Amino acid sequence: MSDHRRLILILGDQLDLQGAALRDFDCRTDEIIMIESANEAQHVWSHKAKIALFLSAMRHFAQALEERQYPLTYIKGATLPIAEVLREQLLNKKISHLVCVEPGEWRLKKAIEALAQDLNLELEMREDDHFYCSHQEFIAWASNKKELRLEYFYRLMRKTHGVLIDSDGNPEGGQWNFDQDNRKPYPKKGPGMIDAPAAFELDAITQEVLKYVSTSYADHPGSLDSFNWPTTREQALEALHYFVEYRLRNFGVYQDAMWTDTPFGWHSILASSLNLRLLNPREVVDAVVMAWKKYSLDLSTVEGFVRQVLGWREFVRGMYYMDMPKMAQDNYYEHKRALPRWYWTGQTKMACMKDAIGQTLEFAYAHHIQRLMVTGNFALLAEILPSEVCDWYLAIYADAIEWVELPNTAGMALFANGGRFTSKPYIASGAYIKRMSNYCNSCQYKPDVRYGETACPITTLYWNFLINHRAQFEASPRTRLMTANLNKIAIEDQEAIQLHAQKILNHLDAL
Ligand SMILES: Cc1cc2nc3c(=O)[nH]c(=O)nc-3n(C[C@H](O)[C@H](O)[C@H](O)COP(=O)(O)OP(=O)(O)OC[C@H]3O[C@@H](n4cnc5c(N)ncnc54)[C@H](O)[C@@H]3O)c2cc1C
Ligand code: SF4
Repeated sequence: MSDHRRLILILGDQLDLQGAALRDFDCRTDEIIMIESANEAQHVWSHKAKIALFLSAMRHFAQALEERQYPLTYIKGATLPIAEVLREQLLNKKISHLVCVEPGEWRLKKAIEALAQDLNLELEMREDDHFYCSHQEFIAWASNKKELRLEYFYRLMRKTHGVLIDSDGNPEGGQWNFDQDNRKPYPKKGPGMIDAPAAFELDAITQEVLKYVSTSYADHPGSLDSFNWPTTREQALEALHYFVEYRLRNFGVYQDAMWTDTPFGWHSILASSLNLRLLNPREVVDAVVMAWKKYSLDLSTVEGFVRQVLGWREFVRGMYYMDMPKMAQDNYYEHKRALPRWYWTGQTKMACMKDAIGQTLEFAYAHHIQRLMVTGNFALLAEILPSEVCDWYLAIYADAIEWVELPNTAGMALFANGGRFTSKPYIASGAYIKRMSNYCNSCQYKPDVRYGETACPITTLYWNFLINHRAQFEASPRTRLMTANLNKIAIEDQEAIQLHAQKILNHLDAL
């Protein structure tokens, strides 16, 4: 009997009763283990709400397993890393066969593989079926490409999985991409009424977790006051249905729009549920595509959403596993500055940063354009060390798991890998933020002023960045217009911009 015994490891972001780990579960020989490791929560200085979400979701999942009579060892409050706790358990239980789904995080995958080798374990690391595209498929796609770009990968995914493809095999609506319809700011008077996101009651498990986190992680950043994350499969399904019914209709058009005190806009807020495996991306995409006809939605909105889940989400995951561990070390521009302290407090005079960071601390959430074009843009222009920026994003968002956070931060926002999968650095001046939001109206800085006391620091740093990297931007037809605009600025003004930028860069904490 003991020869056949297996320990099934379920990690905190693998909470699916139908998942590959439990596929052939045999009550006679198998036992499940789940581990709450404080070490993982402290790996980066995580937002309290992120810790609470993981713990509550894990405990609810454990409850669901127990209700179904699965034999489970659930370890609370471990101080060692997961692989070390696992070692102790395997040795104590004298089990030499470990089953798990491939961890999303490269570091943990390597640690489990090393443990298996060390203990001479039989390790069955199963493919994660929560993705459309396997590693092998992604590598096969990437292997003969001169440039790794989302667009072509996304088209392949659409065709392979028959998503928004008409009966002749062409993209619905005759085009693959409706991005040009999906970049509008809110009307001048503001976003108007936006249907609020689904709300969830805090049950006894969540309340206990919130109490525990507020005392055990009291010095961690962020608030628990607005905690409203789905922590069970049922709640995640409710969030999906609610989004599709009430909020999807304006998702596309206002995808990039920002406005003060509008933390969620028309976004889905589904990433945490997808990443914890409370939702499968297939059911999310299917629900959105079904809603297209049912609610007569614009194709641009539906395609815009599908592109994020079937496109970007799969693409960055493929890139992560292909490029790790190098991806975590890349620093194309050799930036070295420390992250300003106000990223952890929101105490800055810049209205856009204050709003984006403020809502992040309150909800552990900001939407894509806030992450990319506000906090990410600033970090790139301010020459911050990429690993410090990545640690911040990994710590501070409820949906942050390294396989998705790192490629987005290091790859997309910071250009740290030198454009391995993006054609240009995503940089913008205050003019972009002014166009896409109302932030500048209440800011002490002026987005159009390039240097001097009232100059918008983002605008100053933007021009300074272009001056410093003029050759790179001039070399590409996609960015030449930016240097053409730079060339229109008088040389004396360019020098004044550089001087002012230096002052800002030397005192980032004072902004
Ligand atoms: C610097 C930076 C860091 C990011 N870190 C994370 C992260 O840690 N975890 C995470 O899930 N996403 C991350 N993203 C991607 C994206 O910003 C979030 O998925 C999104 O904001 C989550 O909010 P939402 O669920 O309301 O998404 P919506 O705007 O409603 O989009 C729908 C879904 O599409 C998927 N999606 C959208 N954009 C991306 C993308 N670029 N990459 C992967 N999936 C995407 C998500 O699953 C999301 O739930 C990051 C983006 C940037 C620029
Ligand atoms: S003026 Fe500059 S710093 Fe102020 S809100 Fe606008 S973009 Fe942000």
